[in-house]
Amino acid sequence: MGSEQLALLGPGRVQARDRSCVPFRPRKDVLARFAGKVVRTETCWWWVGAVSQGGYGAFAETHDAVIGAHRWALEVALGRRLWGDEVASHGCDEPLCVRVGEGHIRLASQAENIEEMRARGRRVGRWALDGRSRADRSREIRAAVRAADQAGTDPVAAAAQAAAAATRRLRRSSAASDPGERHLRLPLT
Ligand SMILES: [Zn+2]
Repeated sequence: MGSEQLALLGPGRVQARDRSCVPFRPRKDVLARFAGKVVRTETCWWWVGAVSQGGYGAFAETHDAVIGAHRWALEVALGRRLWGDEVASHGCDEPLCVRVGEGHIRLASQAENIEEMRARGRRVGRWALDGRSRADRSREIRAAVRAADQAGTDPVAAAAQAAAAATRRLRRSSAASDPGERHLRLPLT
């Protein structure tokens, strides 16, 4: 069974893989701590906490366990941990997004995710950034979203503006250093 089918089945219906059936229900205080680092908009839900070396949100689930924020969000939504080659795949191209659902984060296999990133890299270029450049881009978007949220202005517009500026600038420096396949090595995904 492909992971798309698994995703459609949803939590609790996946019989073939024992470990995926272990329920995952974080404590309320952990959920609240996570929610406190998210700015929800009508498009993406922006992670404004720590950023990983690869440009993803990084959530300290416990004092000694840091996990990709987007991955954790998907695990909460599924009610179970991801395992094996399962990944949380972004349909919205935004590494900081932690919104699970149509057009944002979904369950995918590693192979599907790599194929999607390649396709997106060709289309918009942002996934062709190397990890450090993508982390720079994410930190700039995080700053813009935080500032807009605190000022009561539109975080979506702020994120779009920051993203456009960062992508233009970083794409140039990234192209100069030939990122090659390095973008596929993603910590915390
Ligand atoms: Zn999104």
